Amino acid sequence: MMAVLLVTGGSRGIGAAVVARAAAAGWAVCLTYRGEAEAAQEVVTAAREHGVDAKAVRADVAVEADVEAAFAAADAMGPLAGVVVNAGVVAPKARVDAMSAERVSGMLAVNVVGAVVTCREAVRRLSTGHGGPGGSIVLVSSAAARLGSPGEYVDYAASKAAVDTLGAGLAKEVAGEGVRVNVVRPGIIDTELHASGGQPDRVERLGPSAPVGRAGTADEVAAAVTWLLSDEASYCTGSVLDVAGGR
Ligand code: NAP
Repeated sequence: MMAVLLVTGGSRGIGAAVVARAAAAGWAVCLTYRGEAEAAQEVVTAAREHGVDAKAVRADVAVEADVEAAFAAADAMGPLAGVVVNAGVVAPKARVDAMSAERVSGMLAVNVVGAVVTCREAVRRLSTGHGGPGGSIVLVSSAAARLGSPGEYVDYAASKAAVDTLGAGLAKEVAGEGVRVNVVRPGIIDTELHASGGQPDRVERLGPSAPVGRAGTADEVAAAVTWLLSDEASYCTGSVLDVAGGR
């Protein structure tokens, strides 16, 4: 039976690129999405072309019961061996002095609470302390965690700093239980995330300001994620890998 990988937010962007690479590497993949059922189904169809099992589950990571249901759907595919905590959101450009509590809470619910609950379900299945086989968790943070995103979305940057710290602490918590936990911090990557935050030209505008002179692709991030998932990264845990073109 193929090892199963669960990817949150796998219908588009970085998550979809992770699904594609993981399927090519032989993982069976359960991906989650929030609303874009058609995009999710296209990712599933492409994954199946690699001869692996693939499934999409609608699950809002901000809703605990949805996350539990997504893991249950993955369990039905076979033994879970990896989880990519990727689902994340930005908000429209704003300074801190203009942010509502509602905006910040909504973002933290997805980027932080969703990440913690996803990790909880992952550890309950993977940890040898819970009778699991061990496995690998990769958290998708952002270079924003160290840059702070002034004038754009400091709340988003802070939520990603929380993801970095989740990775650091959880890695130590489960290192003796067969579970590796690592963090990937993308820079400016060409996905629809920027348009969802009201800045559709962000990649074009800011990509060239990276030291390498361009924005990154979702596949370049997915390469780092799937390497950290794999046994090639067997001595990496608690690592933070920047995929940010030198930013
Ligand atoms: P994207 O193109 O906007 O895709 C976001 C994905 O997450 C979609 O699959 C979306 O599902 C899903 N999603 C959003 N909210 C969700 C929720 N509440 N529950 C479940 N799924 C949800 O974004 P992306 O650029 O690939 O970003 C992926 C991750 O990389 C995020 O954590 C982001 O913060 C991080 N990141 C991105 C960049 C960048 O420049 N793009 C840079 C640094 C970090 P639907 O398709 O159903 O909407």
